Amino acid sequence: MTARRVSDALFIDCGTGYEHKTGDRAGQITYTRQPRARYECVRCGYASPVVTGPDDVKRFVATARTSHRATCPALTNQQGAAA
Ligand SMILES: [Zn+2]
Repeated sequence: MTARRVSDALFIDCGTGYEHKTGDRAGQITYTRQPRARYECVRCGYASPVVTGPDDVKRFVATARTSHRATCPALTNQQGAAA
């Protein structure tokens, strides 16, 4: 049995909202509680600011992990040591 170590975590809160079914805003979502997301890296202790809003959260969730890994001091130190 192997325990999986968590090295980083993405926290996503999808918020609360409803979709307009009719009218000129049909298909749009109105949020009563905005979606939020944040990212934490256990390797270096980095914690991102909280991102709010559906578009920002979508973009953040797609890029947070890869963009942090590119600059994570814990990872770049390892690469530097191997070079
Ligand atoms: Zn990190």
